[in-house]
Amino acid sequence: MRKTDILVIGGSAAGATAALTARRHYPEKEVTLMRQETVVPIPCGIPYIFGTIGSPSKNVMPDAPLEKEDVKIAVEKVESLDLARQVVRTSEGEFGYERLILATGSVPARIPVPGADKDGVFPIFKDMAHLEELQQKLQSATHVVVIGGGFIGIEFADEIQKIGGKTVTVLEIAAHCLSLAYDEEFCIEMENALQARGVQIRTKARVAEILGNGRVESVRLSDGALIPAEVVILGVGSASTDDPTHGAQPLHALEIDRTRCSRFSSPATKTRRWGPRSGPMSSVCG
Ligand SMILES: Cc1cc2nc3c(=O)[nH]c(=O)nc-3n(C[C@H](O)[C@H](O)[C@H](O)COP(=O)(O)OP(=O)(O)OC[C@H]3O[C@@H](n4cnc5c(N)ncnc54)[C@H](O)[C@@H]3O)c2cc1C
Repeated sequence: MRKTDILVIGGSAAGATAALTARRHYPEKEVTLMRQETVVPIPCGIPYIFGTIGSPSKNVMPDAPLEKEDVKIAVEKVESLDLARQVVRTSEGEFGYERLILATGSVPARIPVPGADKDGVFPIFKDMAHLEELQQKLQSATHVVVIGGGFIGIEFADEIQKIGGKTVTVLEIAAHCLSLAYDEEFCIEMENALQARGVQIRTKARVAEILGNGRVESVRLSDGALIPAEVVILGVGSASTDDPTHGAQPLHALEIDRTRCSRFSSPATKTRRWGPRSGPMSSVCG
């Protein structure tokens, strides 16, 4: 069976940082970073792919820093954990470890409205093929709706309007976009700036249904308004990678023995199962 000293599951921001930190502090240990994708997009750059950057392939996390520190990279999907045997089961077989770091991150949240699974509705997965498909769909779209006026929604709206030739509408359920982060004065200033660039903003807008015959054609609000859309982007938050209700495929056998794990959390959460109610985290188990 293949084996490593420190196994990091997850190849994005947390996984790469953990792997590099482990190598630097424990140079005698072999560190393996296991991730399910060959190429990892830079998460914070994703909205800019569609305007400023211009292509998913120009927004890729380089492997060079990992290779320079001699971190081994294994492209495999982890399907389950056997903490008692200190083994993970992957698409390629079993892999043993001395210490395990979980950095499996988050998946985009969905909205519980009819039609949210139609072709043309895009939660933002950190996945190259998904982002390439979105870019292709955006090329022919003339009406784009962004559901959610938080950071990700606003970044997407602003970048997509840079392409030109499209009506871009942000739908925000609260009284103002970005209101979870900023006070009203700033939110209004930001909304005015965005509208001056041509982005339509509808606040206090509750989405009731996404309509279309297989493919999305419009978004219906609870007040009856219909907003045309060939592409709908969801910027409504994130969910744990362990939450199947948001399209995640959870790692099974995660009844983690907290007495064998280090985690940055309050004592009250120590015995909690890592399950649907838990957020994304990184744990060190051995
Ligand atoms: C569009 C967008 C814009 C953002 N902009 C910003 C920003 O400007 N500033 C900011 O601070 N944050 C931003 N964020 C948030 C930031 O992306 C996250 O905080 C960050 O990605 C978290 O990193 P992570 O490594 O914990 O998890 P993730 O990025 O979710 O990575 C998880 C990794 O684990 C892998 N994985 C999961 N399950 C398995 C498995 N079973 N087997 C193998 N591998 C697995 C995944 O494939 C992935 O490689 C943005 C997020 C998005 C989506």
